[in-house]
Amino acid sequence: MVAPPAFRLPDPGTISGAWSARLSDDPDRLLLHADGVWTNRGDFLDRTAVVAGRLAGAGLVAGDRVLLSGPSSVDLAVAHVACLRSGLVVVPVNGGYTRNELAHIVADSRPSAALVDQKGWKEILVGLAPELRAAGTDVCWDDAPVPNLDSVGPADPALIGYTSGTTGAPKGAVLTQANLLAGAESVRQAWHWTAEDRLLLCLPLFHMHGLGVGLHGTLLTGGSAVLHQGFDQHRVLGDIGSHGCTMFFGVPTMYHHLVDDSEVGTLSSLRLCVSGSAPLSPLLHGRLRDRAGISVLERYGMTETVMLVSNPYEGERRAGSVGFPLPGVELRLAEGTGEIQVRGPNVFDGYWERPDADDQAFVDGPGGRWFRTGDLGSVDDDGYVSIVGRSKELIITGGFNVHPREVDDTLAAHPGVSEVAVAGVPSEEWGEDVVAWIVPTPGAPPPTAEVLRDFGRNHLAAHKLPRRVVVTGSLPRNALGKVLRHELREAVSDE
Ligand code: AMP
Repeated sequence: MVAPPAFRLPDPGTISGAWSARLSDDPDRLLLHADGVWTNRGDFLDRTAVVAGRLAGAGLVAGDRVLLSGPSSVDLAVAHVACLRSGLVVVPVNGGYTRNELAHIVADSRPSAALVDQKGWKEILVGLAPELRAAGTDVCWDDAPVPNLDSVGPADPALIGYTSGTTGAPKGAVLTQANLLAGAESVRQAWHWTAEDRLLLCLPLFHMHGLGVGLHGTLLTGGSAVLHQGFDQHRVLGDIGSHGCTMFFGVPTMYHHLVDDSEVGTLSSLRLCVSGSAPLSPLLHGRLRDRAGISVLERYGMTETVMLVSNPYEGERRAGSVGFPLPGVELRLAEGTGEIQVRGPNVFDGYWERPDADDQAFVDGPGGRWFRTGDLGSVDDDGYVSIVGRSKELIITGGFNVHPREVDDTLAAHPGVSEVAVAGVPSEEWGEDVVAWIVPTPGAPPPTAEVLRDFGRNHLAAHKLPRRVVVTGSLPRNALGKVLRHELREAVSDE
């Protein structure tokens, strides 16, 4: 078990209270840039008060849920902060969701309002829940008196993040004001994030990485952020220079595109490049170092916990490792399985109206309840944590365990492989077979299973090597670049 360093939440112990305190200071200072325009701290806070008035005028009261979804914009950030300052519970929703996925979230969270920018969504949502009040994220409702702001307590719910990992019907993880504050404060400390920083933020704001780290951290530190709607590598590299950015947060897929850009050296002007949400292969870590001269800092977090573990700001940023538990986080590996279990002020209390899921998600241990992340880990002698896989993705072939990620990392080094993911598919003989899905390198002949087995033989035991190779044009990934291994498996069982 790794003991946490001393950690204290900033006053007043709520995320919205801490933001207001920070942003009331020096109101002319630039805060967010979007669509060619800067918004300063003072205007931003004033706008959150106006929106809070409109939400109250529409009859919303503390504890009510509000669906929030749209491409990144200052309006979206204002609406989010206005909700939290009013004690409303934000339910961020992926703008790519289908009607069925929306229907599940609406039925489960029973929102009183929806602030959504996607075309056709207001109609769909009102169709699903006729009593729901719907508007765009600009909240064009009548002005009304501003209610009491920032009066909620640390234990009050602030956000419900729907998550299924990468399988199953999504469950709502309820994060309190204190959870969100702890999540942002821990990376503020660990990454030496200050008001002088400027973040290039192209991650979506419906997910913890972009929202709970990128936006929340910017508002907490009083730094500034340049918001992009989606990832465009040329715009990213251009704006880093033209806006004098100091930090970039990305997912591995983004770095995969950036590394081959002739302008990738621009990243070396940043003081910090962070990767997370999915594993950054050691190969890509090394290529970024060679081609751009940067040592990407990889970190690990989840919807249920905000951030958990990070490579050090100073000291070795180890490829293939996620580093050390962040301030406030206690981490242990379960005996036998090696599952990563965590505790801390950032860790949520439970899923929305799902005591059955809570029973599975938490386990009693030293000091109280521990959250079972479902990730399998190892800890080096010098304390660096690595994620070796997800417990649900473990392949068992002929009675032997195979962590797909280890095989991915080995096969990715083959020159004929651009991207690869392995998964287990049912096999009468072995229980499961290791199958590799590969996107071949353009212009190169796709390697066969035999070629890949030969290639991997020096690194991996025979049972880990793929019995079959499926050549594909792209791997199925979620919005954050995580490979959806169950979709690979399903595609094979449908054959
Ligand atoms: P989400 O709740 O969508 O943020 O997904 C959380 C999951 O993403 C974790 O449980 C991990 O399985 C995975 N994850 C996040 N960061 C990393 C990382 N740096 N390396 C490997 N997996 C990661």
